[in-house]
Amino acid sequence: MKRLLRALCPDEIYPSVYAIDYGRLWRSGYRALIFDIDNTLGEWGCRAVPESAYALVSELSSLGFAVGFLSNNSGEDRSQLKAQLGSWPVLWRAGKPRVHGYKNILTLLRAKETEAVMIGDQLFTDIWGAKRAGLYAILVAPVSPASDSLWAKLRRPAERLLLKLFSRENSPHHYADDR
Ligand SMILES: [Mg+2]
Repeated sequence: MKRLLRALCPDEIYPSVYAIDYGRLWRSGYRALIFDIDNTLGEWGCRAVPESAYALVSELSSLGFAVGFLSNNSGEDRSQLKAQLGSWPVLWRAGKPRVHGYKNILTLLRAKETEAVMIGDQLFTDIWGAKRAGLYAILVAPVSPASDSLWAKLRRPAERLLLKLFSRENSPHHYADDR
């Protein structure tokens, strides 16, 4: 049980992708950033990510980070989003929390798991999978909880419970956490 809890515990928690200290990640040796899309960069099911998220990802990319996207969504009917993220590798139907999607995107990014960071809004997919695959894992609050998929909505109460447990044990580090 303890081991499972540890596998679900993010290394850091932030209120949004904009609050993450990417400079510190770089100085710590991280060179690859893997983003979840839905409710991490934009609302669940968004046709395109907001301009601010696109600008952030572009900047991180030009700073030297290898950037990729890992989504459990099918990517169907999202041609605008696909065009928008076209300069970076995107894996749809990634099967998080299974490990193979993480391995595949790392191959595309030519990065080792020890130098990669997964950034996502869900403990039971993004974070669990990242920890299983040996990546550093950062949890962000969902962009719009109301837009969550049904499955995500059903998992949120369990996530809240776990986060309460984690914060009581004083791990992970909470950075300007507003939950
Ligand atoms: Mg998500």
